[in-house]
Amino acid sequence: MDDIIIIGGGPAGLTAGIFACRAGMKVKIFEKLVVGGQANLSAKVANFPGYEEVDGYELSARMKQQVENLGAEIIFEDVKSVRKENGKICVETSNKSYCAKKLIIATGAKERLIGCPGEKEFRGKGVSYCASCDGYFFRDKVVAVVGGGNTAFENVLYLSKIVKKIYLVHRREGFRADKLLVDSVKQLDNVTFVLNECTKDIVGEDKVQRINFCSGLGLDVDAVFVAIGRIPDLDWLNIELEKTNDGYIIVDENMKTSVENVHACGDITNHKLKQIVTACAEGAVAGNSASL
Ligand code: NAP
Repeated sequence: MDDIIIIGGGPAGLTAGIFACRAGMKVKIFEKLVVGGQANLSAKVANFPGYEEVDGYELSARMKQQVENLGAEIIFEDVKSVRKENGKICVETSNKSYCAKKLIIATGAKERLIGCPGEKEFRGKGVSYCASCDGYFFRDKVVAVVGGGNTAFENVLYLSKIVKKIYLVHRREGFRADKLLVDSVKQLDNVTFVLNECTKDIVGEDKVQRINFCSGLGLDVDAVFVAIGRIPDLDWLNIELEKTNDGYIIVDENMKTSVENVHACGDITNHKLKQIVTACAEGAVAGNSASL
């Protein structure tokens, strides 16, 4: 039996593994697809300390190498369910059952997609889900931000200092975003609101050139930042954990969840800032506290 099972091989899970291995734990990390998670989607990560600019995929590969060098075993199997039995925590994959003394959940959150034509095709070629990751690449360009919540408005505030012009595209007139944020955005000279519009498609040749709306109107843009909420990646989890109303796992300062011996870290938790560096920080705390 292992000491710790980590589900999710993104920055949070890999860092949890690094800290747990260094504490002498026997660790297995389960990853259903590719190690690195969302970090792999950023061609240029420019806010990870120590690197002025690093390819997200390369950063992930380095973390993977580091945790494997320390002795963690990475298993590429999709975890389907979890169960507690006789003081152990066991995970079931499509192949097998594995048990450990402790569990760290680091499965992240996935972005809610618009679901329109062009969105998937131009991902990384002008369609972005992370203004703080990719905004820099659209300096002095024209962009659209889709959404009416706090994330969309924060994205607009962030991008307004970088890009030439922003269209905030929202499907109705009222906003979920806090009034203070909305008022701040309304004061910006380079922002135009496009309300009561849904996105019909995103088009271009080899990169984004235009966003078209359901009304038949459209705008020429260099990028579309989609900020219509995120969905916790917890469909597989069959044990009851305390969560926020929107489904994020509530953790304490040691990354412990409401269930004994179950920790969580990274984008799946209720903490606000969702960045590689914060995922790593949470992973460090989870790996450390699960090793005690
Ligand atoms: P959110 O609050 O759920 O807002 C999502 C926005 O996207 C809503 O305006 C929604 O429109 C729109 N939307 C949803 N599905 C859509 C679709 N299929 N097509 C077009 N538009 C769609 O998400 P969020 O802004 O990412 O924020 C998530 C949570 O984090 C919230 O609780 C938020 O308050 C919190 N947060 C807080 C801060 C802060 O306090 N500084 C910053 C960021 C996030 P409708 O309004 O019409 O449904």
